[in-house]
Amino acid sequence: MAKVVAIANQKGGVGKTTTAVNLAASLAVAEQRTLLIDGDPQGNASSGIGLERGAHQKTVYDVLIGAASFDDIIKQAVQFKHLAVAPATADLAAAEVELVDQPEREQAMRHALAAVRDRYDYILIDCPPSLGLLTINMLAAADTLLIPVQCEYYALEGLSQLLNTVRLVQRSLNESLSLEGVLLTMYDARLNLSRQVASDAREYFGNQVFETVIPRNIRLAEAPSFGKPIILYDVASIGAQSYVSVARELIARNSPGTHTQPTEHGERPGSEQPGAQPIDPGEAPLSDHAPELADSSASE
Ligand code: ATP
Ligand code: MG
Repeated sequence: MAKVVAIANQKGGVGKTTTAVNLAASLAVAEQRTLLIDGDPQGNASSGIGLERGAHQKTVYDVLIGAASFDDIIKQAVQFKHLAVAPATADLAAAEVELVDQPEREQAMRHALAAVRDRYDYILIDCPPSLGLLTINMLAAADTLLIPVQCEYYALEGLSQLLNTVRLVQRSLNESLSLEGVLLTMYDARLNLSRQVASDAREYFGNQVFETVIPRNIRLAEAPSFGKPIILYDVASIGAQSYVSVARELIARNSPGTHTQPTEHGERPGSEQPGAQPIDPGEAPLSDHAPELADSSASE
């Protein structure tokens, strides 16, 4: 049965799609049966993995409104034998409006996914930069949430809002949703600001932060315009190696009998548990970090 991972952060441009595409590719290369679902009307995951824009008869939109099944829309063996893709186009924006009148409108994704879950090891869902009905549907369908955090100004601001949404979803739609991890993206080791964001994230989230950090790497930014995941565009790049390393961590976290090692950044309660962590139900005063981060940038 697949592990369903929603890749979400309502903040725009933090590396959700780059992570969805390249993590999916790295998992497929590691012979994990992987389904990449494009859950964003921008359709960037679909084009970034190499599907031609406008070439799809039916898409995630049709699935959500009940006019198609995943079997009708999934493209098999995209770039790799083990990678399947469910594409999206701008149409998907309409689903947000059309779903409003449907019964169980938040569960459309979950119900549709049930039919194909057992065919994959991992299902990754690229979410749009909002906390609207589309993202709620993706969270309701997911086992875990992976949050890309850009090592930039105000990176942690807004995460408390995301975590509050997650708690609402847990309470009313999907009790078992947990946190897969926080992935630091676009890290620049030369910048105090990047180091500060990374250290704040590790202080707050402990070993829920992936040990692998994705550096800022121009090859990662170039690859989508060639319709290729980084592992096909430039396998030797630091960007490619980083996503391979994240895939390895994800697989290790989810292998039965594997135990999450406490990091030097401190052990969290429950850190001896393998796999995903429960989302801390306590208050999350993350927005309080933002002014500190802004201040720390003044020394750049
Ligand atoms: P949106 O919220 O619009 O969906 P997103 O969170 O999916 O955005 P991406 O599209 O993955 O973010 O990344 C935003 C931009 O940053 C893109 O142009 C992408 O190519 C670039 N980018 C992402 N990760 C990196 C990286 N590690 N190094 C350099 N550029 C990157
Ligand atoms: Mg995106």
